[in-house]
Amino acid sequence: MDHASLYLVEDFFSIQGEGRHVGVPSIFLRFGGCNLRCPGFGTHEIDGERVEGCDTLRAVDVKRFKKSWHRYQRATELIAIVRAYVENAGYRPHVVLTGGEPMIYHDHPAFYGLVGWLVREGFVVTIETNATIAPDFDRYRAYGGVTFAMAVKLSNSGERVGKRVVHSAIMALASRGKDSFFKFTLDPRCDTNADEIAEIVEGYPNEIYCMPLGENGEELAANAPAVAEFCLHHGYRYSDRLHVRLWNRQERR
Ligand code: SF4
Repeated sequence: MDHASLYLVEDFFSIQGEGRHVGVPSIFLRFGGCNLRCPGFGTHEIDGERVEGCDTLRAVDVKRFKKSWHRYQRATELIAIVRAYVENAGYRPHVVLTGGEPMIYHDHPAFYGLVGWLVREGFVVTIETNATIAPDFDRYRAYGGVTFAMAVKLSNSGERVGKRVVHSAIMALASRGKDSFFKFTLDPRCDTNADEIAEIVEGYPNEIYCMPLGENGEELAANAPAVAEFCLHHGYRYSDRLHVRLWNRQERR
C-alpha cells in the first residue's frame, strides 16, 4: 500500500452497537488497512474464493478491496464528511474511527488533522484499535482527548503473541487516552481465554468489556450466556452487540 495515502472504506451514521457507548448515535468512519491479518478468525467466501482472516476483510485486504476504497489526502475532506452528518442529524453525534486498524494512520496529516478538529470542536471520539500502535502523545496532543477501545487480539486470532500484544502500546493508550477501555470478543469457550485476558489487563484500572462472537442474531444468542457468565465470574463488563441483535448482521446499519 502507498503509505502516503489514506484510505476510507466507508462512512455511515448508526448507533454504536458495543462497548461503553452502546446505543449512542454515532458517525462511523472506517479506514482501510491493518497491520495484522488474524487468520484464526475463520475463512470467508469472497468472489467464490475461500479467504482466511477477520470479519472486516473488506477493510483489511488491500489486494482485493483497495479499488473500492476512497483515497484522501487532506483533513478538510474528512471533516466535510463529518460536518455533513452533523448538519443532517441536527446535533453532534459521537464519532467512531474504526477499521481495519485506523492507528496505522496515526501520524498521517489528514487523519491527525481530523482527530485534532474533532477534539477541538468537543466531539466525543472513540478510536477502535487492536492496541498495537500508539502515537507520541506529547507530540500529537489531541490523542489525549480520544477514547481508545482497545480490542487486543487473543490467541484465537492466530497471530503470534509478540505481534498482537504490544505492551508499550497498550500502556500508552490505556494511560494517555481519555477513559480508554479494553474490549474482547469471545466464543462460548471463553474460559480458555481467561488467563491471557487476565495477563493483558493486569494492573490497569481501565474498564474491561467482553462481548459474544456472532455474525447474526442466532449465533449471538447462542454465545451470549456463556460470555455473560464469564463476566460475572471475573468481574468484567458484559457488552452485547446491539447492531447484530437489531439488524442481524455485523455492520451497524
Ligand atoms: S486486528 Fe482487527 S481488523 Fe485487523 S485483521 Fe485482526 S480482526 Fe481484522
